[in-house]
Amino acid sequence: MTERSDVLVIGGGVIGLACALALLEEGSSVRLVERDTLGSGASHGNLGMIMPSHALPLTRPGMMRDLLRWMWRSDSPVLVRPSLDPLFFAWGLRFARSCRREAMLGIMRGRQALLESSRDLYVELVGSEELDCEWEPCGLLEVFERAESMEATEPSHDLLEGIGVHAEVLDHDGLMNLEPALRDDVYGGRLHLRDARLRPEKLVAELGRVVRAKGAAVVEGTVVSGFDTRAGRVCAVMTDAGRFEAEHFVVAAGAWSAKLCRPLGLRLPVQPGKGYSITTSRPGPCPRRGVVFHEANMAVTPWESGYRMGGTMEFGGFDERLSRPRLEALRAGARRYLRAPFGEQTSEEWCGFRPMTPDELPILSRVPRYPNTVVATGHGMMGVSMAPATAKLVAEMVAGREPFLDVTPYSLARFGAKHYRARHGQAH
Ligand SMILES: Cc1cc2nc3c(=O)[nH]c(=O)nc-3n(C[C@H](O)[C@H](O)[C@H](O)COP(=O)(O)OP(=O)(O)OC[C@H]3O[C@@H](n4cnc5c(N)ncnc54)[C@H](O)[C@@H]3O)c2cc1C
Repeated sequence: MTERSDVLVIGGGVIGLACALALLEEGSSVRLVERDTLGSGASHGNLGMIMPSHALPLTRPGMMRDLLRWMWRSDSPVLVRPSLDPLFFAWGLRFARSCRREAMLGIMRGRQALLESSRDLYVELVGSEELDCEWEPCGLLEVFERAESMEATEPSHDLLEGIGVHAEVLDHDGLMNLEPALRDDVYGGRLHLRDARLRPEKLVAELGRVVRAKGAAVVEGTVVSGFDTRAGRVCAVMTDAGRFEAEHFVVAAGAWSAKLCRPLGLRLPVQPGKGYSITTSRPGPCPRRGVVFHEANMAVTPWESGYRMGGTMEFGGFDERLSRPRLEALRAGARRYLRAPFGEQTSEEWCGFRPMTPDELPILSRVPRYPNTVVATGHGMMGVSMAPATAKLVAEMVAGREPFLDVTPYSLARFGAKHYRARHGQAH
């Protein structure tokens, strides 16, 4: 059986779905192929924070020192399992290089462009499509237990202010007035007014509803296993439900994109960064908005319909087991900052794999050997926050139009030619 569409999107997470919607709006016919169910990857149990405040990447001076310190603690926010995989080693070297100040400044500007434009596009998207996803532009609070940790972040704060990312600085009393759910022994904080939140599993369900209503063929429970390539073009993808042809292809398979793209001659530097979350009923008192707990390296998001704690970053492949110490570290972290750290009923304990690039910028780029194929992945900790602008850029690339943002920072070329010189695997 062969079926045909203008564009075929691989992956039904927030990135694939947002791309499908933007492509439909361009007038293309779209088929989206998802291996499991829509939103079953990282887009399910994340915190749903929309964070223009987080333009500064993890890759920053001092990060390698922090990582080495954290590596030896079982409850640390970052865990790196030693690996002999040369791709992981190369990824780590690139990460270390991205921590230099000059590199960090360039990365920050690239992230800011996507984050800021996505924040504005969300307002349009949620309004025009009437997305029922508990969108609330209520800001984000960053809280510090200790004076010295808040002081240590002042240079980053100044840097962000310098590029127009404003935060209101709060002393202890200001913080307690704003957020009475906090424990009285917190030191101070910053309020990021432009940030917002939504419920991510509702967002993906709603995007699924809208793309179907606009005519997309959504094929769930179907794995893309290879590509049929001819004369410098991808002609079709091979799946367990048959072969699907298209004029253009978009690879939005999240943390699994690297493996999927090998037969296209690509070595995508994308590693799975495992994170955890716990969803409960609303605690009483419940925070009024999302809160980042700085020293504990975790955050919580309240919604009308529930409450979620999340965080941690593990590098060690696709190990789907839920680690009890990691989940307990989230509960313990929330106890340090909140009077009622979580609700009485737990509805879900979850882990997911963030698609991590070594420079914390996504890859939005045509495949050099097969220019009718666009890669849209590597959004790391910011996939929900960056989805609308990503989708707009992908739709423009597919249409061959001038992109509304400079896409150079997201290009594959930044990793050097060796990343698209991998030998052909099982290209069909
Ligand atoms: C604990 C945690 C908290 C987070 N909090 C936030 C937050 O507050 N704000 C924010 O912006 N981001 C957050 N993130 C990051 C965010 O979740 C990710 O960046 C985002 O979900 C990535 O979306 P995606 O569509 O690229 O990947 P995914 O959601 O993983 O989707 C990829 C999809 O591709 C499918 N797929 C893979 N291979 C194939 C194949 N061969 N054939 C067909 N389908 C395939 C998968 O099944 C999957 O559904 C958080 C992440 C974690 C883990």
